Amino acid sequence: MSIHDSPVGPEEHAGESGLGAPLGPWAGAQIAVWCGKTGKQWHANPDCYTLRSRAREEVFTQPVEGTLADRRLPENLHCVPPGLLRDYLTAAGKLGKYEQATNVGCEQLDDGQLPVIAFGALTALGGVIDALESDPLESSWRSARRRRDELVDRARPLLAGRLPLLLAAQWVLSGKTPRQYKARYSDFVDAFIDAFESAGLAFFGLYDYVAKDMLPRWLQDVADGNAPSRASDRMATEEEARLERSSQRPDPDVVRRATQTIVHIGEDWARRLAELVASHDGEVVALFNQERLPMDKPLRDLFTTVRPGAHLHTRDFAWTIERVPAVLNLFFFDEREGERIGLVLERDDVDAFDTATCALFLRNLVAQLGQPDLADYVEAGAGAAASDEIRVDYPVAQLRWPHGDLVHTYPGLGMTREDLLPALRAAQGGVRFPSAGD
Ligand SMILES: [Zn+2]
Repeated sequence: MSIHDSPVGPEEHAGESGLGAPLGPWAGAQIAVWCGKTGKQWHANPDCYTLRSRAREEVFTQPVEGTLADRRLPENLHCVPPGLLRDYLTAAGKLGKYEQATNVGCEQLDDGQLPVIAFGALTALGGVIDALESDPLESSWRSARRRRDELVDRARPLLAGRLPLLLAAQWVLSGKTPRQYKARYSDFVDAFIDAFESAGLAFFGLYDYVAKDMLPRWLQDVADGNAPSRASDRMATEEEARLERSSQRPDPDVVRRATQTIVHIGEDWARRLAELVASHDGEVVALFNQERLPMDKPLRDLFTTVRPGAHLHTRDFAWTIERVPAVLNLFFFDEREGERIGLVLERDDVDAFDTATCALFLRNLVAQLGQPDLADYVEAGAGAAASDEIRVDYPVAQLRWPHGDLVHTYPGLGMTREDLLPALRAAQGGVRFPSAGD
């Protein structure tokens, strides 16, 4: 049997990127593995559901020092021993993935891209946080956290300018609905078609190509944190290369004109995004259900991990109140469900809403809604990312319908800004509503 030094098998997949970690509980361990009479796959979990019989058994003694990459295991290993050994492997794997994401984020930032990946919350590590905070992973975990914090700090100056554009791109992209494109999306497509027609470059199938391929890629590029000019450069370069290797072998002059037109279209699209941002200028104070924002998790997380505000996470909703780019308002109506998921509370006096005021508002709000005990769960500031605040036992919010969420847009249903004014005005005045314990 050959010795393989990298893990295989689905259960070990999490270990893939954490192989540089110390052996931990694997050091010196005797690992028994089993295989059926005719099988080719080995199992180290005696309870593995695919293990039919333990006709053959072998024992592998692990090295006493080194890393997880130095483990001695059969080549075709399906599963690892349950319990401590597997848990350690999972923790090391998650640490590896975390470090990998930081590396990707650093490369993106060096490349002028806002590293959205770096803003994700640590909730995914909730199950392994104890292992990460104890020997022998603790020191690696600490330095991984430090590197991530440094990256986030370095990315912060880019955040203010790039975030509104990124949200605008995400908003336009969400207009690419399966049945019929929303006007915000088809306007971008039409601008492309018009420019190509004017230049005498239009061809059959152009509309679909733009709507299903070029535009979504360009928008996704910006939604991923790239500058629009960068997205446009990439689009022009890709299309030029595509034309040059196409079977029709277009005239070099046509290729040149098409590329130029695409450059101009990129500028036009960038201007449209900037206009969208300008029409929702500046910042507002908003209350929104952060978990229902229709965007990728790291981007949603950003509103709790790096921006100052206050948060209340229950089993029923995850409310955030903070100063946000006004363009986020576009997402506060869930088009698919026909529900409201956020409310703008203040447009003028946004400076008054520091972290403490936001937290006071949430505490007042739950008191006003008859659930003052929830005030204890209000988290203030960008602390939700800190490992010691990962909470898995969210409280139940027994808010009476329809106040369990911000939902319902029918007249008279759901919460309106008017409903929230008592709690809001009290918070602005520094007044705390009496709660059960007072
Ligand atoms: Zn197995």
